[in-house]
Amino acid sequence: MSRSDTPASRPASPIWHPFTQHALQGEMTPIVRGEGAYLYTPGGERIIDAIASWWVVTHGHRYAPIINAIKAQADQLDQVIFAGYTHPPAEALAAGLVAVTPEGLDHVFFSDSGSTCVEVALKMALGYWRNIGQPRNGIIVMEGSYHGDTIGTMSVGARGVFNAAYAPLLFDVAQVPFPEKGREDETLKALETLCAQEPAAFIVEPLILGSAGMKMYGPDILAAMKRICEAHGVLFIADEVMTGWGRTGTLFACEQAGVVPDIACYSKGLTGGSLPLAVTMCGHAIFDAHYSEDRTRTFFHSSSYTANPIACAAGHANLQVWRDEPVPERIATLQARQARHLERFRADARFDDVRQCGTITALDLKVSDAGYLADVGPRLRAFFAERNLLLRPLGNTIYVMPPYCVTEEDLDLIYGGIAAAADMIG
Ligand SMILES: *Cc1c(COP(=O)(O)O)cnc(C)c1O
Repeated sequence: MSRSDTPASRPASPIWHPFTQHALQGEMTPIVRGEGAYLYTPGGERIIDAIASWWVVTHGHRYAPIINAIKAQADQLDQVIFAGYTHPPAEALAAGLVAVTPEGLDHVFFSDSGSTCVEVALKMALGYWRNIGQPRNGIIVMEGSYHGDTIGTMSVGARGVFNAAYAPLLFDVAQVPFPEKGREDETLKALETLCAQEPAAFIVEPLILGSAGMKMYGPDILAAMKRICEAHGVLFIADEVMTGWGRTGTLFACEQAGVVPDIACYSKGLTGGSLPLAVTMCGHAIFDAHYSEDRTRTFFHSSSYTANPIACAAGHANLQVWRDEPVPERIATLQARQARHLERFRADARFDDVRQCGTITALDLKVSDAGYLADVGPRLRAFFAERNLLLRPLGNTIYVMPPYCVTEEDLDLIYGGIAAAADMIG
């Protein structure tokens, strides 16, 4: 191993941060408190959390009904084995999820992260085919997708600099092109061809591909892709880890296309962004394929913290917030405000592809050197950080995905910052 380019001094902290090149990263910004759309440093500086702390916070940081539920549950039961045992917060949350998710998703499997719930979905799909006596193992994916950072989820996600080192461990998948505007037919034709080869499942991020750079496509395409899968009996897996919980304007993105996935993955906003929790939901067909007196048909999956009671209490409180508070109205307001702020950039020649999907907006800063590793990303991030804005561009794609409680004044600062960034780069 060559150590010639190892920087002279390592960070003082033993912590190895995610997606962080420590040799290039300056000091980590310490955060000691969160409230609503804001994060606070020890010195009392207020940072606007314009990306909802990596897409997880929906109603706001430390949202009272959720925090109160966490406190109350912590006084009752912190953790219990979930094989052979169950508990009220898990039962209440599961029943609530069946009620609010697309009709037909009747079974809930708990796990603890977006990656894990996608792994569970892939295992459910292959288990289904094997258990009904028609083994299938092919997986179809969409170009550019992101489904997590474990070996399985990297396998079904876009290949690139992020996973080049692990490529030998990744399994092969078939890929359809992203449905670019005007070229959607290519995606549908490719899906049709691949589905005819009898794969196990197609996995997709509905309406918007997050990590790919907030790439958006319409509900009609989502619906068409579902129809093709259905016609060929290919299981349709919707990865709603980012899109769920109001992000795309509706509670779940699939609603906009009238699509009921065979398997759906939810995490991030499931607890309002307060605690790690995930679920994989499926219909009777998949559950029944595993439901047998034959033990070899068991669904062999578990995490130590499956359905952690405190996380489940947070998830259940989130459902109650959705039931009792005007969350759809808040989202509609945020959506309209975001649209207004985007207007000023539509005529700005320095930006490309100004776009919006529900509460998420994105725009590409025209630069000669684009791509995730381009210099422009870190430069923009540093520029925003100086203005106490937490924005984390994906290469030259700047996007805004705030908690729903963000104010008009906050949005002024966010979009003012984006305009100023273009001045700085240009
Ligand atoms: C974030 C994300 C994941 C992975 O979730 P983690 O909790 O980070 O493991 C999977 N799929 C999509 C679409 C995501 O945005």
